Amino acid sequence: GAPRAHLKIDGLSAGYGAFLVLRNLTLEARPGLTVVLGPNGAGKTTLLKALNGLIPRQGAVLLNGEELPEKTHETVQSGVALVAEGRQLFPQMTVTENLELGGWLVPKAERARRIEQAFNDFPKLRERASQLAGTMSGGEQQMVAVARAMMSAPRLLMLDEPSLGLAPKMVDELLGIARRIADAGTTVLMVEQNVKKALAVADRGYVLERGAIVASGPAALLARSTVIREAYLGAD
Ligand code: ATP
Repeated sequence: GAPRAHLKIDGLSAGYGAFLVLRNLTLEARPGLTVVLGPNGAGKTTLLKALNGLIPRQGAVLLNGEELPEKTHETVQSGVALVAEGRQLFPQMTVTENLELGGWLVPKAERARRIEQAFNDFPKLRERASQLAGTMSGGEQQMVAVARAMMSAPRLLMLDEPSLGLAPKMVDELLGIARRIADAGTTVLMVEQNVKKALAVADRGYVLERGAIVASGPAALLARSTVIREAYLGAD
């Protein structure tokens, strides 16, 4: 098969107009599941936007050694998909129609094959194939958003707070889905505020505070680190 995606970010700066949120960030997403943790406003969403070409950036962003394009539609063609916060589904369209739109670049027969694959991967969505996306629960909608992103068969999947606003059981289900996608060969870069659960499924993690990385490492080590225990999990 194709080599697994390895994203290397070196000296990344990005922000809004003159307001720099990220300064000289260095981070990598190796094959597997990498999580970026951090408080509100730390710049986690800004990082994913900069990678996806939604805001301008400076610095090197390499996917398997090749510079990632700065235009969103070109990042899709380079094999990058983003599930944005808020999911951005088409609420008046069915689950199937949302998936079809996720595969708009894909020839029809292949698109049908991928929808079938999505229904195999997300059996709950098969039952809901003709339900309007806007009438689904938050967790179900998040599932549709992930399945839709997978329709472009990305090498790198970026998830912005997939567990946001979900009940604990759904959080576990969504994080489990992220883990399975990583195990199936798509490199996953996930932003999360659910520190404990995210570190439990991730391979590696970074802690972002005020636009800078303050800690990083293997997820199991990070979970035991002082910065995580004191600031996010409550020291015992
Ligand atoms: P959250 O979990 O609350 O979304 P975050 O870590 O994802 O937090 P960002 O959304 O990246 O944080 O925001 C980082 C900083 O950039 C914040 O100070 C925020 O106010 C600012 N910011 C975000 N979007 C814009 C925008 N469109 N214009 C100006 N400033 C923005």
